[in-house]
Amino acid sequence: MNGMNLHQNGSSKSVNVTLEDLEIVACKCGSQLFEVKLKVGRLSQVHPKNKTGEPMLADLPVKVCAECGKELEV
Ligand SMILES: [Zn+2]
Repeated sequence: MNGMNLHQNGSSKSVNVTLEDLEIVACKCGSQLFEVKLKVGRLSQVHPKNKTGEPMLADLPVKVCAECGKELEV
């Protein structure tokens, strides 16, 4: 059986855990259901790491509470 993909600080690594190893995360409002939404980061065309000469957008997925909409804090 494959490990689950755990996400930490934007990097993804496979860890050999099962559902029993995890505690279910709850929002401060008590909800245990979350939705993934996208924050969008913009890289300016004049940024030294931007070689394209055009502004670029990067998707930054965040988990927000399905009940109150607050961003999940680890
Ligand atoms: Zn909530």
